[in-house]
Amino acid sequence: MAERVHKNSAYLNGKSTTGTTTRVKDTSPTSGMCPICIRDCPIMCEISLSGFRGREALYPEPVQFGYSTAGALKDFGLDWSHFNIQAGLFEALGIEENSDVALFPNVSTETQVAGIPIKIPILNGAFGSTDVARLNWDGLAIGTALSGAIVVVGENVCGMDPEAQITNGKVTHSKELKRRVEAFRKFWDGKYGEVAVQTNVEDQRLGVDVYAISKLEVNVIERKWGQGAKAIGGEVRVRDLDRAIMLKKRGYVVIPDPEDATVQKAFKEGVFKSFERHSRVGIPKEKNMIEDIEWLRKQGAKHITLKTGAYRPSAVAYTMKIASEAKIGAVYFDGAGGGTGMSPVPMMDEMSIPTVY
Ligand code: SF4
Repeated sequence: MAERVHKNSAYLNGKSTTGTTTRVKDTSPTSGMCPICIRDCPIMCEISLSGFRGREALYPEPVQFGYSTAGALKDFGLDWSHFNIQAGLFEALGIEENSDVALFPNVSTETQVAGIPIKIPILNGAFGSTDVARLNWDGLAIGTALSGAIVVVGENVCGMDPEAQITNGKVTHSKELKRRVEAFRKFWDGKYGEVAVQTNVEDQRLGVDVYAISKLEVNVIERKWGQGAKAIGGEVRVRDLDRAIMLKKRGYVVIPDPEDATVQKAFKEGVFKSFERHSRVGIPKEKNMIEDIEWLRKQGAKHITLKTGAYRPSAVAYTMKIASEAKIGAVYFDGAGGGTGMSPVPMMDEMSIPTVY
C-alpha cells in the first residue's frame, strides 16, 4: 500500500483509491516517482497505470462503486485537526445566563438556513442516484428528520429510476423520488428541518422540479452548478446493459455506447463490467439564472438554494452576486475532497479550493 514518506509529498504516485503503489518509499516530493525509476519495474504506480491502462487511473476502484464512499488523498498541509474550539466564559449563548438553567441538555442549537428552522446546524447531502445513496437513504433521511435538520435528495434520482414514468419528456411519476421524500416526512415533526430536491441539467429537462413541487409537495428546490468541487456533470457506474440503454434513451451520456453492437458483444463476453453514465455540465448565465429562480417561485417552490463548488475566486464572487440578485435562500460551496464514489480521482485530489486551506 502507498505510504507518505515526506509530509509534503502531495504529488501521490501511489494511491489506494486506484490501487497503485511505488517500488520504494522515499519517493521524490516533486514528482512522486521513485528516485531511481527502473526499466524492468514490476510495480504499478500511478504513472505506469496512467500510461498502460489510463482509464483505470480515472475512477476510484470500480468494483467498490455503490458500496463505498471515496475521498481525496492530497495533503494540503492544513486540515481540521489544526483547529481547536475556544470556549467563552463571560456569556452564555443559546441559554439563559443563569447557572441553574444553563445545563447542557437545555441549550438550544436552533438556527435557520434559507428561512427553514433547524434544530441543529446540519445540512445532510446531497445523496443522488448512486447506489450507496439509494441503499442508505432511509437511515440518512429518518436520522435527519428526527434531528430536525435538512436532508437533500441529490441529482438524477428520477432519471435513473427504472420505474419512472416520463410523458412527453417530463417526469409524471417516480417511485424512487416519492420513497425518498416520504421516508423523511414519516418522521418529520412538520416544523424543524426539510427535505430538499436537487436539480441539475437533466433533472430540469425532465421537469423534476415541477414534479417534486406539484406531486410530492416538496418545498425546497436546490439548483446545482457543477458536480461537487469539480465543475463537471454527475457520474455513476451502470452494471446492466438494458439500464444503460434506458439511460441513453432518457438523454444521458453513456460511455461506451450501449446501443453499439460491438460494445454489447464485449459487455456480454465480460471484456468490461460497467458503463459510465455522465450528466451534462450546466453553464449558468446571470439573466437566465434570475429568470429561472423567479420561474421556480411561480411553480410553488417555497425555498430555493444553490449548490456549487469552490471554483476560482472570480467564479465564487460571480456566483455570490447572481445568488444575491436572485435572492436565493442559501448557497452551499462543496469543499472538495470526495463523495459517493464517481468523481475522477485526479479531480478529487487536484481541483478547487479545499474548505481548509
Ligand atoms: S515505474 Fe518507476 S516510479 Fe513507478 S513504481 Fe516503478 S520505479 Fe517507481
